[in-house]
Amino acid sequence: MAQEDIFKKLVAHCKEYGFVFQSSEIYDGLGAVYDYGQMGVELKNNIKKYWWDSMVLLHENVVGLDSAIFMHPTIWKASGHVDAFNDPLIDNKDSKKRYRADVLIEDQLGKFEEKMNKEVAKAKKRFGDAFDEQQFRETNPRVLANKQKYDELHARFAKALNDSNLEELKQIIIDQEIVCPISGSRNWTDVRQFNLMFSTEMGSTADGASKIFLRPETAQGIFVNYLNVQKTGRMKIPFGIAQIGKAFRNEIVARQFIFRMREFEQMEMQFFVRPGTELDWFNKWKDTRIAWHRALGFGDENYRFHEHEKLAHYANAAVDVEYKFPFGFKEVEGIHSRTDFDLSQHEEYSGKKIRYFDPELNESYVPYVVETSIGVDRMFLQVVAASYCEEQLEKDSRVVLKLPAPLAPIKLAVLPLVKKDGLPEKAREIIDSLKFDFNCQYDEKDSIGKRYRRQDAIGTPFCVTVDHQSAEDNTVTIRYRDTMKQERVAISDLGNIIGGQVNFKGLFGKLN
Ligand code: ATP
Repeated sequence: MAQEDIFKKLVAHCKEYGFVFQSSEIYDGLGAVYDYGQMGVELKNNIKKYWWDSMVLLHENVVGLDSAIFMHPTIWKASGHVDAFNDPLIDNKDSKKRYRADVLIEDQLGKFEEKMNKEVAKAKKRFGDAFDEQQFRETNPRVLANKQKYDELHARFAKALNDSNLEELKQIIIDQEIVCPISGSRNWTDVRQFNLMFSTEMGSTADGASKIFLRPETAQGIFVNYLNVQKTGRMKIPFGIAQIGKAFRNEIVARQFIFRMREFEQMEMQFFVRPGTELDWFNKWKDTRIAWHRALGFGDENYRFHEHEKLAHYANAAVDVEYKFPFGFKEVEGIHSRTDFDLSQHEEYSGKKIRYFDPELNESYVPYVVETSIGVDRMFLQVVAASYCEEQLEKDSRVVLKLPAPLAPIKLAVLPLVKKDGLPEKAREIIDSLKFDFNCQYDEKDSIGKRYRRQDAIGTPFCVTVDHQSAEDNTVTIRYRDTMKQERVAISDLGNIIGGQVNFKGLFGKLN
């Protein structure tokens, strides 16, 4: 199936089963803003729990925070966002559509990569077990030609970004003959910088309202609370502060579902370390974070690290964790070594000392910071994309979300075979005995087959059918989502069978 078709199916599936709705849909929607439905909110909460507990419960030296979205406007001056939180934008004059110039070029790089990968895949098929991928990549003329194009473009692109050379970005787009996907034309405007922060007014105009910003990242709320947490929590360096919260960016391109939104949620952790040790910690957090992703079981080969072409103004090392979405490898998380930039800037702008007295060194310093920053919504899309399967069965087909059991919105569906003979009551009894342990759903409508399909579509790992035998011997049929295998088990065993699988402990066990 074509990649775009898979993506369209994901979007339609998310809507049909109550995961994600367009915001303000009855008013024809609001660009790049989305709402989470009854299933979506459960999945989202589970993703947040997986992240939060892996940070705060599993690390003695990481604590949480919940800072306000509104902050003093000077914070954004100090952080550099007022002056430099820009994206290079370019318009196509025919379609009147707006694009990020850097993303157009990145997509072009992706095309060269795709061509190389296609050659490799073809050869792999032809040569079977005898295939030596590395040798093929180093010698095949078609792969080498594309590699050269990739490397040349990459070097030119990185230089243009680092020099903030907007004319050169446009020239690259022209030289690469990049066309607008809508109009198919190469009729481009110049590239301009565009600040992504939303602003609003606080206080009434009469008493001198001040312009404030909706935070474009949660990190600054952590930096300005560094001293509060360090002192009141008696934290010793190295330590981290984790936060989950909304962030807002006036994104230029808003056509990628929840991959790129104007209102979204971030899970960020700032880890404060002794100067000079930051690159070691950067590498440690890289390992920790990739293990967190891989523990979900979506295939190690679908993740990779991507070094930044251009380091942000505050960073001395930066890497993205990328996942292979239906539309190619894309960033899910960023890991950045932010140096002492933010804390030093806040020292300067606030006039307050933001230091740590290190008893081992017997000196005070501004701590260095390693950050891990992941979007909840982008992670949500990644999980749904990785879990979505269309399976051909003997007689029919099914769509199943093979979600990791701890993340599934509903863990157990209890289905009475018929709506009479005391079976509904028995089913309710089962739910009452388990509902404090995990999310259960009762469903008595339609045939059992249809009910199974509905649960498959929302990723419920276990279904239990209550039949006439259940009333006699307190047993039920349990059906497993992925294998569709069924077995007869005692009702009293359900808690153990299901509890063991849906518990986060299984995932956490893979992180150590
Ligand atoms: P991109 O290059 O895709 O715009 P970024 O490098 O600006 O992303 P960061 O500032 O590093 O992103 O933000 C950290 C994480 O927050 C990203 O890895 C992503 O998961 C998430 N994120 C950033 N912008 C958005 C957005 N507009 N919508 C949804 N998630 C986002």
